[in-house]
Amino acid sequence: MTIAETGAKQALRMRRFLMAATTYVVCAALAQASAWLGYLPSSLPAYWLIGATAVNAAFFVMLRSGWNLRLQDPSMTEIQLIVSLVAAMVLISQADEARGAFLMFLPVPLLFGVLRLNFRQMARVGIIGIAGYAGVIAVMASMQPERVQVTLEMINLMALATVMIFVSLMGGYISKVRADLALAVAKIGELAQRDSLTGLFNRRDLMQRLEVENARYERQLCRGITLCMIDLDHFKQINDTFGHPVGDEVLVLVGKCLGNSIRTMDYVARYGGEEFVVLLDADSDELAFAACERIRAKIGQLRIPALQERPISVSIGVAYLAKGESTSSLIERADEALYLAKAQGRNCVWAAPRLDALADTAPYCP
Ligand code: GH3
Ligand code: MG
Ligand code: MG
Repeated sequence: MTIAETGAKQALRMRRFLMAATTYVVCAALAQASAWLGYLPSSLPAYWLIGATAVNAAFFVMLRSGWNLRLQDPSMTEIQLIVSLVAAMVLISQADEARGAFLMFLPVPLLFGVLRLNFRQMARVGIIGIAGYAGVIAVMASMQPERVQVTLEMINLMALATVMIFVSLMGGYISKVRADLALAVAKIGELAQRDSLTGLFNRRDLMQRLEVENARYERQLCRGITLCMIDLDHFKQINDTFGHPVGDEVLVLVGKCLGNSIRTMDYVARYGGEEFVVLLDADSDELAFAACERIRAKIGQLRIPALQERPISVSIGVAYLAKGESTSSLIERADEALYLAKAQGRNCVWAAPRLDALADTAPYCP
């Protein structure tokens, strides 16, 4: 995950945390109102608010400092939900006649869980809520039986269990829909950057990549790039002689061959039609030229049954990115070099002269 992606996720976690913190404030206001009306001990809301503030401050510090990133679940959703259940339980245990009102707060944490948890985790939090409430009632029934009406609490418990189960099921379903949606978005992202015929990166992705590499080069984060424009020779003849589907097959096989001919750090895209672009990490003119020669030789060795073993060839134009040069100028110069390679009789590599101060040698051409 990139630093920007981590930052965006942390910002989202912080937003959700602040939303959850707001519910504590609402709950504290309700608790204070209940205390004024005599349904809660008068000092309880203040203590409750101090406790809730302390716990939330701890979560805030963990999120703000990035400490949460060390955890298996950096969103800390489950633990935050359990803490809020405990907080609600404190008020419920003390509310006596107003217990039903505070009971309504118990399913609220689960609603936050819908945004993050799967069904199992939702069910776990739900069970903790139900069991917690049953426990509080059981303890009170045994220690202060005058404060609980067991039959009424049984109805409360059944209603709570029904709501919790319903919210867990809905949450589980929504989390599955969310997961499917995330997969679909990833798939669409993948499709948007790939060429449908060859599976290589498409021109759109290439242009983005070039902009990124260019910016990195400007900031001296990389040694620069070499752009190799590769064009199949006399491809129209292949289409005309063997048909368009065979032409497509040739494009797929050439794409595969290019993918197999470059190093993992290099990059290949279908620029359009029968043209491909390879981006090489700029080492030296000689190495870039040798890489292009290797690609040219490998494609020359391809034997495609549909072409009745007839060999194919490519011409390659090479251009080295200069400091301050635009990506469109780089492509233009590689295109001009390709044109010269074609003019040389095809099946060869031609390099454009270097533009920058590194141009201490003449263009490296055979
Ligand atoms: P040159 O050696 O000068 O590059 O000649 P060429 O025939 O390769 O170049 P030209 O630009 O005349 O023809 C390119 C052909 O590529 C024409 C077009 O029909 C074909 N082509 C472009 N895209 C596709 C494709 O996706 N599939 C197939 N089968 N053919 C394509
Ligand atoms: Mg062409
Ligand atoms: Mg061509």
